[in-house]
Amino acid sequence: MTGPGRGVLARWRHVLPVTAATPALTLGEGDTPLVRSAALERLCGLDELWFKLEMCNPTGSFKDRGMVVAVAKAVEAGAQAVMCASTGNTSASAAAYGARCGLDSYVLVPGGKVAAGKLAQAIAFGTRIVEVDGNFDEALAAARELSEDGAVALVNSVNPDRVQGQKTASYEICESLGDAPDILAIPVGNAGNITAYWRGFVECAERGLATLHPRMCGFQAAGAAPLVVGAPIEHPETVATAIRVGNPASWDGATAARHESGGLIEAVTDEEILEAYELLARKEGLFAEPASAAGVAGLLKLSRAGRARGGRAVAILTGNGLKDPDTAAARYSPNIVKAGPTAREIARALGW
Ligand SMILES: *Cc1c(COP(=O)(O)O)cnc(C)c1O
Repeated sequence: MTGPGRGVLARWRHVLPVTAATPALTLGEGDTPLVRSAALERLCGLDELWFKLEMCNPTGSFKDRGMVVAVAKAVEAGAQAVMCASTGNTSASAAAYGARCGLDSYVLVPGGKVAAGKLAQAIAFGTRIVEVDGNFDEALAAARELSEDGAVALVNSVNPDRVQGQKTASYEICESLGDAPDILAIPVGNAGNITAYWRGFVECAERGLATLHPRMCGFQAAGAAPLVVGAPIEHPETVATAIRVGNPASWDGATAARHESGGLIEAVTDEEILEAYELLARKEGLFAEPASAAGVAGLLKLSRAGRARGGRAVAILTGNGLKDPDTAAARYSPNIVKAGPTAREIARALGW
């Protein structure tokens, strides 16, 4: 098979650590749509705003893009099992690719803080779930210790193969737009993704696929904004559970991306995140999970503060809104009326 749709390992093998011994693993990840904004572009004071729909990956988040590489390399290295700590999406992804390869998988999740859809996925894929009485940062420290002897492969974004896979999104953006954008807006949690995108854009410029580097604009939730504060947060809190991280493993990668690109990493409040979450749904027809809305919330905030400079931006919609039905239920009062089955009854119920 050639062209798009082959999966990340086959399509981008020339820029990935793929060898003859790497299994040809894919669930159809990558090649996600890049869709032009209908309404938010103007509100954000931009000439162009595009959404990269990473929520269209097979398990509904960008994590698949790196997981396919990490799990394939784990198989190549002879691992029998994979393990991760997760705010939810990494566990769904590790469980899916683990199942595909016949590997056991173990996921450590912060108890009570994982969105229902993500847990449902991990359960469906048959992974062994450990609900940790602690936060993500503590779970990651434990996962690192448990995987030290190499019998189980750690597939968090501290695994360099994850970052390699995730950088391919930058290649796709440059390919679609014919160049890198002026601005890349992205939510930041454990900071592997902003690190990966920056690496991808630097490589694209080196390979002549782009003439410019984007300003990397990362956004953290105000209650979980260690990179903004400049110190780890012991008890991170936010409605955007996917970025509820107090001590990002890729701290240095994120700050290097900010510095080298002339970008920024700032905080957005939960209310700003939920406003962007609603605008994405109501004005764009895009149902992204709350963490995904943080990048868009950040662009809106910059614009309202008079800091928008026009240009072309890409916002990464990292995960699917279906994963977190509870946040949707809490945010919206459903617009539902009951009616009998006839046209007359339905028209009456609608007040026609
Ligand atoms: C994992 C995740 C993030 C954060 O990515 P990091 O690489 O941890 O910074 C953002 N949004 C969603 C939906 C995620 O699953």
